[in-house]
Amino acid sequence: MQNQFTGVINQLNKTCKIIKIEHDELEILSRPDRIIEVSLPVLMDNGRIKVFTGYRVQYNNIRGPYKGGIRFHPDVNLDEVKSLAFWMTIKCAVADIPYGGGKGGVAVDVKELSQGELERLTRAYTRGFADFIGPYRDVPAPDVYTTPQIMAWLMDEYSHIKGENTPAVVTGKPVEIGGSLGRDTATSLGGFFVFEQVLSKMSGMGGKDQLSIAVQGFGNVGMNFALIAYHAGYKITAVSDSRGGIYDPEGLNIEEVLSHKQTAGSVVNFNGLENITNEQLLELPVDIVVPAALENVINEANADKIKAKIILEMGNGPTTPEAEAALLKKGALIVPDVLANSGGVIVSYFEWVQNLRHYYWEQDKVEANLEKQVVRAFEKVWQAKEGNGCDMRVAAYTVAVERLVKALSVRGI
Ligand code: GLU
Repeated sequence: MQNQFTGVINQLNKTCKIIKIEHDELEILSRPDRIIEVSLPVLMDNGRIKVFTGYRVQYNNIRGPYKGGIRFHPDVNLDEVKSLAFWMTIKCAVADIPYGGGKGGVAVDVKELSQGELERLTRAYTRGFADFIGPYRDVPAPDVYTTPQIMAWLMDEYSHIKGENTPAVVTGKPVEIGGSLGRDTATSLGGFFVFEQVLSKMSGMGGKDQLSIAVQGFGNVGMNFALIAYHAGYKITAVSDSRGGIYDPEGLNIEEVLSHKQTAGSVVNFNGLENITNEQLLELPVDIVVPAALENVINEANADKIKAKIILEMGNGPTTPEAEAALLKKGALIVPDVLANSGGVIVSYFEWVQNLRHYYWEQDKVEANLEKQVVRAFEKVWQAKEGNGCDMRVAAYTVAVERLVKALSVRGI
């Protein structure tokens, strides 16, 4: 497989050809503004020092401060962080919120760390990047395996360094210290709003109870998406986590699956159902597949075996370009990550606004504003898709690149 970032930039080139943008602007968007790599020495519980490598890629800030999560995962590498930072730039522009894009990460298996080690790693990361982040510079947030607690440590360490309470340096915080109500479920709820919009545009899909949905990933995003869709009356027939999955063609009771996961640590071995693998889940005879975990899970090897008519990308980058071409050829509709999972960063924006204004909103207001913002983004993308006769990803990129190029041209270099 080609390097991930190369594939990402090919996608950008494809879009720019359609909307005929100038070469110079394309050149600016094809590379990150800044890449920062820092060594993070952490005192481990056994008294020894372990040095981790921390990354932050500040991709583009033409529309506002760099914005994007920090990922703690063993597979984190610079190529991946660059790709994720690029996608954040596109995502914030599609959502039309006043941010650029960035991303951070550490290659670490958090399951092997104690709470104390995790806290010391987070504080080391914050010290390492303190000169580069800030409410008007670069605002991190949670991503894979980073939690509100980790954001709280980051906010605390940064506030100590600066000598003033600075909640707006990071979003996705616990509500007790300036987090927004509704931030924890925002990515999933935003995805659900997009999903219902997509269904309203498609004929012949059948009613809610006839539609079967398989969700890959039962972390914050996948789990909440499954719960929201289940309570809205959709049939979730399969879910999975890093240890494997379960399938019931009759539909799963997601509340029960959740309490099973909370006691057993995984969704597998639920109620006498047969376990399936993560690969099998994607190939099930379902109407909708929701990849809500890691990148490249839908690839050349399995694209031909995927039967779903809709792929709702709740994780970042789940579909490789080769797989996308094969799926589009089969007539599947791929709802791209930069739109489908933008609810998270949209409510991050609301959190940041609340922090800067010191005035906090009710959950109803957060959710109503999320719906408005994400539906507006969807409509714009759908229009671009119909207007250009292109797929939804190219349409979303078109909307984003036009906004970025406009901002570039009015600001100048
Ligand atoms: N990590 C999330 C994403 O990929 C949220 C980023 C944010 O809120 O800044 O969209």
